[in-house]
Amino acid sequence: MSFGVLGAGVVGITTGLELQKQFPGAKVTILADKFDKDTTSDGAAGLFRPSTSFTGPNEFVTRKWIKDAYDHWDAIRCTSDAPLAGIAQISGYIFSSEHPHVVQNSRIDKLVPIYKRATEKELTLCPGNWKYGTFFTTLMIECGLYLPWAYQQFQNNGGKIMKRKVNSFQELTSENFDVVVNCTGLGARYLCNDTQLVPLRGQVQKVHAPWIKTFFFGDYDTYIIPGFKAVTLGGCRQLDSYNLNVCPYDSASIRSRCESLLPSLKSAKTIREWVGLRPHRAVVRVEKEKLIYNEKALKVVHNYGHGGFGVTTAPGTSIYAVQLVRETLSGNSKL
Ligand SMILES: Cc1cc2nc3c(=O)[nH]c(=O)nc-3n(C[C@H](O)[C@H](O)[C@H](O)COP(=O)(O)OP(=O)(O)OC[C@H]3O[C@@H](n4cnc5c(N)ncnc54)[C@H](O)[C@@H]3O)c2cc1C
Repeated sequence: MSFGVLGAGVVGITTGLELQKQFPGAKVTILADKFDKDTTSDGAAGLFRPSTSFTGPNEFVTRKWIKDAYDHWDAIRCTSDAPLAGIAQISGYIFSSEHPHVVQNSRIDKLVPIYKRATEKELTLCPGNWKYGTFFTTLMIECGLYLPWAYQQFQNNGGKIMKRKVNSFQELTSENFDVVVNCTGLGARYLCNDTQLVPLRGQVQKVHAPWIKTFFFGDYDTYIIPGFKAVTLGGCRQLDSYNLNVCPYDSASIRSRCESLLPSLKSAKTIREWVGLRPHRAVVRVEKEKLIYNEKALKVVHNYGHGGFGVTTAPGTSIYAVQLVRETLSGNSKL
């Protein structure tokens, strides 16, 4: 059995590992033009926090993706590899002065180990007239550590990694893959001509502030998330913007909003500023497709469009994508 995986971000590498797990002995090859620091996955804060707007094909499947993903990340957290893979447990607050729904999350309230309404006293922990708040414990997956760890695992299992830009699926018909899994993130917009997939631009600052151990969210995309190497300050969400340059106005706004929330950040040195384009799609696409080129068929399973929640949900959609691979191979598939 031979599988091709397009993409080496968090979705591609996690799918590659899942294929190896479910098809021991299969030949799995990852093809991608960008790796590690050049992917969108690399700069994400990596907090496990799916939005209530995160949507799969139906509610049952969406919830299963999220639960499977949490269980997968948490299982690694419980091993001695956790710090190498960049996975840790973390707790924090989400505050709002706007509306109670901002601080409520029905996708995780029964999934994470601690999820509770903030007390009156906790609402005064940060400056601001906070009316609503939630405290919860979740996971943090730092892709700066996870991606290299996962590439190594994949290669140790016999997987092959190739640097290559794929301009059309037709190119792959000569490769003799039984199935190709498409995990190209925003690249799928061009590869699949999928106009439903749009960039949702985000900008963050990575700062040196080792005294911050708790995450904080405020209104208007303001967040402070401690990681292994730095604290991530954010952010913004700009739909349909392809601007990969750091915007000084966004930098100033992020810094000012985060310092208002946690004044001790005023003395935190900026290590790096970063911009990423989240692959936003109203419904994340995990689907089978059979493509025919000059009477040659290519079986594809798509796994893209995770928006701002790809780190959170990659293992869940990968398990589902590999189930679709199995159906495609079994002959039960209509494809
Ligand atoms: C500022 C910011 C903060 C974020 N914070 C979080 C967070 O806290 N939690 C969370 O869950 N998510 C977060 N995200 C979202 C997360 O980063 C994305 O959902 C995730 O990285 C998407 O992963 P991916 O593997 O689909 O895409 P990518 O990481 O973009 O990888 C795509 C891969 O496909 C390859 N590729 C594309 N086209 C081709 C082609 N034609 N040929 C060959 N290879 C190709 C690329 O080279 C790359 O290897 C954040 C995003 C941003 C921008």
